[in-house]
Amino acid sequence: MSIFIDKEKCKKCGKCAAVCPGSLIGKNPDGTACMRYPKDCWGCSSCIKECKFGAIALYLGADIGGMGSKMTVNAEDGKLYWNIEKRDGTTEQVVINQKESNKY
Ligand code: SF4
Ligand code: SF4
Repeated sequence: MSIFIDKEKCKKCGKCAAVCPGSLIGKNPDGTACMRYPKDCWGCSSCIKECKFGAIALYLGADIGGMGSKMTVNAEDGKLYWNIEKRDGTTEQVVINQKESNKY
């Protein structure tokens, strides 16, 4: 599992690197974020949730049926919106109400 960082969207804030528990994210010479050790990423999604500019996506690999789709997330009004962009350009969205997410 790994992430994709869109250099065009990156604002060089460094927050993704600060929250990665494996210190896997570094900086390019121009200050944008870069993934240093893609094979070590376990897909915890901390960096994706921290990036407020939508610059980081999680690759959904074949092992979980994602077939190379990319997933981003944004939060609004107590809800998480997980946005999936498939390789054919189609999209899907999963909405999670954070207030309800811990109810059984
Ligand atoms: S959190 Fe987003 S904008 Fe900030 S450095 Fe990381 S990728 Fe760039
Ligand atoms: S998904 Fe988790 S482990 Fe992977 S780069 Fe982001 S913060 Fe680090």
